[in-house]
Amino acid sequence: MNVPALMATYQLRQREYLLRITRAMTSRLDLPSLLELILTSAAEMVAAPAGLIVLHEMGTTPIRTTQWDSIEIEAEPQARIRTTYGVPDQLLPAFGPLLRPSAPLLPLEDEENDGVQTPGERYRRDLERRVQEVEENLGRKLGQVLGLPLFFEEEMLGVIYLFRGGSAFTQLDWEFLEGFAYQAAIAVRNARIYAQLSTERSRLAAVIENSADGILLLRPDRRVAVINQALVKMLGRDAQELVGRPCSEVLELQNVTGDDLCAGSKETIPPEGLRCEGELLRSSGGNLAVTITYTPLFDSQGRLTDIIANVIDITRFREEEEMKSTFVSIISHELKTPVALVKGYAQTLARPDAAWDPETARQSLQIIEEEADRLEALINNLLDVSRIQAGDLRLEIADVNMCRLLERIAQDYRTQTVHHQIELDLPDALPIISGDEERLRQVFTNLVGNAIKYSPDGGVIRIGGWVDEKKNGSESRPRLVIYVADEGIGIPEEELPKIFDRFYRVDSGLRRRTAGVGLGLFLIKAIVEAHHGEIWVRSQLHRGTTFSVALPMDEMKADCTC
Ligand code: ATP
Ligand code: MG
Repeated sequence: MNVPALMATYQLRQREYLLRITRAMTSRLDLPSLLELILTSAAEMVAAPAGLIVLHEMGTTPIRTTQWDSIEIEAEPQARIRTTYGVPDQLLPAFGPLLRPSAPLLPLEDEENDGVQTPGERYRRDLERRVQEVEENLGRKLGQVLGLPLFFEEEMLGVIYLFRGGSAFTQLDWEFLEGFAYQAAIAVRNARIYAQLSTERSRLAAVIENSADGILLLRPDRRVAVINQALVKMLGRDAQELVGRPCSEVLELQNVTGDDLCAGSKETIPPEGLRCEGELLRSSGGNLAVTITYTPLFDSQGRLTDIIANVIDITRFREEEEMKSTFVSIISHELKTPVALVKGYAQTLARPDAAWDPETARQSLQIIEEEADRLEALINNLLDVSRIQAGDLRLEIADVNMCRLLERIAQDYRTQTVHHQIELDLPDALPIISGDEERLRQVFTNLVGNAIKYSPDGGVIRIGGWVDEKKNGSESRPRLVIYVADEGIGIPEEELPKIFDRFYRVDSGLRRRTAGVGLGLFLIKAIVEAHHGEIWVRSQLHRGTTFSVALPMDEMKADCTC
């Protein structure tokens, strides 16, 4: 066969190969395996024993501009060798110079500015320089090197490098590979977009799945397409069992206000969406207060494609609302009573037409003083609550002689009650502890005050204490335990976990007959915890209640006698 005929056969063979390989490339969406296919095909086509592909990371690729000398680069391009052929891994660091941004292949807009070089020449020169550097790194020659840029529209995605020992790449190789590079660039671009889309899809799915609020994705027929973890947990049901079901069987609400789309309150969903509030029925029993917002999604033709239902647990919000109204009613009642008394007695004493005997005047003034004390205590409690909520409960730490403190409290209360016997049950000596004496006084005054208040039939109130040497896990400090026990009305077991809550009062007949706003135990607990201590309660209905407070002790401190 003569030379032109040989060349024609060769060209034909290459074209067929290109067609086959293009088909294979376009059907591959997995980037690593696509790059491998591109490189092995390119190397085989031109009989190159070695090669590699350098890709620019997405978002950092050099952007082609019409001005050669000011190549705009969006960000410092990050290039990486993504696949190799016939190059041992340990040699790869030597190819570093190929990772620098290369001079792009673009026609010059203003040739005069560029002297003698054409863009092709500039690119080849640049490539030669880099190859030289690589050869210096390797300590040997690479021979013929072909750097085939992968361009997609104006963006340079990367370069295919092929190394072929001594024999030069022919013009035919070069022309053929240019066509190949064009197809390869399209395939790389598609694979990248696909990878980006799958990453975004899984990111979106992760956002929905891990959102703290419940999310339901509904199809236009209002059947469940996707349900997230938070909602599955709220419902206490199995996710698999819910997908595909009509949403009326999933989001079953009671006491609904607003428009419940799932219950069919509206035929169609308006573009601005719908909202409702109600109690969600759960498989585990016990309803959950929620708001549901339905948001429709439309395609470009305005057809409904999906409906997103956001389900938010509003239990805490409702509790806060209830708490606010309780607060207002309790506070207004508790403030009104002493204010009315103070005002009444003051008005009476001030009447110009009446002359009061000294004893009546003294009793009236005493009542005014007591009621003013009550008001002051309430105001102080409220201030303390706001300090605790702001995390601003400060302690003035000093040595506290607990024996003396408890004896004084007992003594003070003995003068206030005749129905109760206040007894001290302390050992001969108790250790001095570090604490805020005034705050600790507040703790035990409140506990003894409660013991009296909730023992309407009198009885013994015992204040005792001991040193608890028990080593508590890794916390090896001994503790001083003080208890206040009464023989009063007791607290029902189911109420025990709630009595330390703000404004919580057990609903007994006494609640209406005794003053109080339900703040004492809340404050006590905060004070004890600020001392790194602990408070707990044991109670038997109609038998009595014992509150115990444990405070950490400093072993170095001396004892004081009781
Ligand atoms: P405040 O202390 O704010 O004046 P309060 O005494 O009602 O009002 P807490 O001291 O916080 O509030 O107590 C909360 C509730 O716990 C009380 O209302 C009462 O129902 C119950 N309780 C507290 N101490 C006792 C006790 N020793 N015996 C029986 N019930 C108690
Ligand atoms: Mg109290």
